[in-house]
Amino acid sequence: MAHPDRDELMTMLDRQRNDFMAKRPESLNVRRDRIKRMIGLMKDHGDAFSKAMSADFGNRSWEQSMLTDIAPTISLAKYCLKNLDSWAKPDKRKVQFPLNLLGAKAEVRYEPLGVIGIIAPWNFPVGLAFSPLLQAFAAGNRAMIKPSEFTEKTSQLMKELVEEAFTPEECVVVTGPPEVAQAFSSLPFDHLLFTGSTATGRKVMQAAAENLVPVTLELGGKSPVVLGREADFKRAGERIAMGKMMNAGQICLAPDYMYVPEDKEVEAIGAVSDGVHAMYPKLLENDDYTSVVTDKHFDRLQTLVKDARDKGADVIEINPGDEDFSNTNARKMPLTIIRNPTDDMEVMQDEIFGPVLPVKTYKAVDEAIDYINDHDRPLGLYYFGDNGEEQEQVLGRTISGGVTVNDVIFHVSADDLPFGGVGPSGIGSYHGPEGFRTFSHARAVYTQPKIDIAGMAGLKPPYGDKAAKTIKSMLK
Ligand code: NAD
Repeated sequence: MAHPDRDELMTMLDRQRNDFMAKRPESLNVRRDRIKRMIGLMKDHGDAFSKAMSADFGNRSWEQSMLTDIAPTISLAKYCLKNLDSWAKPDKRKVQFPLNLLGAKAEVRYEPLGVIGIIAPWNFPVGLAFSPLLQAFAAGNRAMIKPSEFTEKTSQLMKELVEEAFTPEECVVVTGPPEVAQAFSSLPFDHLLFTGSTATGRKVMQAAAENLVPVTLELGGKSPVVLGREADFKRAGERIAMGKMMNAGQICLAPDYMYVPEDKEVEAIGAVSDGVHAMYPKLLENDDYTSVVTDKHFDRLQTLVKDARDKGADVIEINPGDEDFSNTNARKMPLTIIRNPTDDMEVMQDEIFGPVLPVKTYKAVDEAIDYINDHDRPLGLYYFGDNGEEQEQVLGRTISGGVTVNDVIFHVSADDLPFGGVGPSGIGSYHGPEGFRTFSHARAVYTQPKIDIAGMAGLKPPYGDKAAKTIKSMLK
């Protein structure tokens, strides 16, 4: 299939921007209508999307796709509809003395930027393309989307359905290999939101810098779990197992590694294992359990485990149904616990992005905090425990994009919270009011009264006593 080159992409962008400028200002009802069309598209075709995602992955449960890609996107759309009026309302701001007394006024208007570029990854291909789109629409923009090449069927369906529901002036989906994504990231968008790996994010930011395009980078990283000494291990184990096994660990926010009290390591691993047994009595013959997306990704995970084993780690496979994984091409992998991981192991260097869970131990929780702080700032951080002091010690001394306490991943599900990373795990955020702001320009509007403020305040030449008085009072 022929994919668009840069000139063709540029034509699409010009078309959107010209229409956007010609129709300014568009009413909030136009935005509402676009969001409602997105809700209709997701409701009507959620089933087809879930089937396409399963075909792309090899297997991905229909229910999981509905719960992770379709329903949350509809929820975010409804949240946008509910909050649009208040987000879009201009903010009255203060004018300082003496201009305020003389009748000057100031406000901030949140105005659309124009055309937003959205580059999405394969792991939640629908949610991570359409969620930013919804907030770009809420803020009054047009958008171009480049979904991942790894989920071809889903991307193609997305393209067809967007063509049915929207004009090319409103939204287009561009499919193709990384070369298309590269050309896409070099376009002079009014804002570019990228979701993907830190390595690609770096390239995207470089390409965007050529045109001074502002970016939001939603990246990955190694999100740690800290189990406090007084945590409910049974509950924590089940929740960690659920978060690590969902989408077979292919989640930017998946708990990457776990830090547990040294004397409770066996109990913690047992609790995670129990959680896996309860949710997945079998893995191979179980549609609830997702496959690893491609052979290449599968091989990378096997290599991580082999490297850890070769370097002295104790490797434990949680295989509830005692199935034979050696003779299958289903790309399914049991949860693999890595005990005694060391920093020279690959599994402790890069984001794992699969069902492999290193377990580190601490004598005092400060060791876990210091370890986290010695490494890249993670996207998510998870603390389990009911000790408020310890919780604040962990939260107060670390930095991460977001936090879930007594569970993993869940902070992303709260529509009203900003979602984003910090440092190498990302720049900027969306979801929440922050998402609306990300895709808006905060335009300062100052209105001068009729009276001669500059003259009265001594601001205009020839400078004299009035200017001296104003300067004196301002320096007070
Ligand atoms: P990736 O970086 O390989 O690809 C992401 C997108 O970038 C794809 O659409 C791809 O076509 C495009 N791309 C590839 N090369 C490019 C280039 N040179 N210039 C511009 N675009 C290019 O990531 P992936 O493997 O699809 O996704 C996994 C990664 O995404 C993980 O690191 C994960 O943590 C991260 N992620 C982050 C979030 C988040 O919200 N923070 C969510 C999901 C995934």
